[in-house]
Amino acid sequence: MDEKKEIEILRIGHRPERDKRITTHVALTARAFGATGIYIDTKDPVIEENIESVNRNFGGEFFVRSGINPKEIASKKGFLKVHLTMYGMPLKDTVGKIKEAQLKAGDGIIIIVGAEKVPFWAYEVSDFNVSVTSQPISEVSALAILMDRLIDGRELENLIKGMRRIVPMERGKKVDYVPDGEECLLILQRNNASQRIMDHVLMVERLATDIASKCNADMELVRAGALLHDIGRTVTNGIDHAVKGADILRTARISESIVKIVERHTGAGISEVEAAKLGLPVKDYTPVTIEEKIVAQADNLVSGNKIITLEEVVENYKRKNLVEASGKIVRLNNEIEKICGISINEICQDLINK
Ligand code: SAM
Repeated sequence: MDEKKEIEILRIGHRPERDKRITTHVALTARAFGATGIYIDTKDPVIEENIESVNRNFGGEFFVRSGINPKEIASKKGFLKVHLTMYGMPLKDTVGKIKEAQLKAGDGIIIIVGAEKVPFWAYEVSDFNVSVTSQPISEVSALAILMDRLIDGRELENLIKGMRRIVPMERGKKVDYVPDGEECLLILQRNNASQRIMDHVLMVERLATDIASKCNADMELVRAGALLHDIGRTVTNGIDHAVKGADILRTARISESIVKIVERHTGAGISEVEAAKLGLPVKDYTPVTIEEKIVAQADNLVSGNKIITLEEVVENYKRKNLVEASGKIVRLNNEIEKICGISINEICQDLINK
């Protein structure tokens, strides 16, 4: 099945009092399995708000529209209609046909699930009436199994990325906090970041996210790392500002992936030996992940709030007698370009011309 084809859910017969829990679970399951949204026939602002709040915390843009005319949705053009019903044809005989029909027509899919007794028009309007076992089961499990088969298990890749990210653990619970752009600006304000810092980090964010978008990097980590990389400058402008910034963010329980971006952003990184010489806590501050590398290099290429060329960066370092560090910056630039198959200079020029 084509990955970009939309899957929408149509829930009919929803009774807010009786079904609020199960309809919420239908929506949550659809969202986690990659559907774009759900239509619910009866108006239910509580479910709308609950799912909105899940989106805010855990990411994605899954929509919930309640109080709609189900017949209208079921006649939407450009979508195959698949009705889940225990009276339908077995899933194992149908799933291939659905994928084939979809491929041929280039359609999305509307999956119809019932709550109370489903009206007959739903059977008639559907291209496929599908049964997951010919036994009565829950609509949540029927939906999950159908979607899993339609998208060939891709839901297991956990593609939705939000502010709260569950860190899988063998035992215990851990949730990472990746603030979005707005939250990062609030964090900077709360730490009394100057206008100068704000102007600089906003430009670094623009450049870093432009590079990241061509690099298959985690955009939200890059955005937060870029916006917060100089938070340590609210307390010191010394060489230790990255370490201080990391401390501030650890105290605020920000994701360790962002803390590392901040801690490792100085130049093209600082080795353990250099760190000892500079009086920093002794450890290796070399950027490791692609997100760490991108933010460090975007920072190198932004002076104040202006983008400068790699040659200018090298010149500035040489003028300060930091010849070795300038070589590392050139190597980091080459490395990112190679990993991502891009020209950083071209991305800089495009941004300047915007
Ligand atoms: N009593 C209702 C009827 O007869 O139309 C069905 C109620 S059932 C609890 C709610 C929904 O679960 C159904 O509308 C259907 O979408 C889904 N469902 C239940 N068992 C199913 C099965 N074996 N295969 C596919 N869907 C099923």
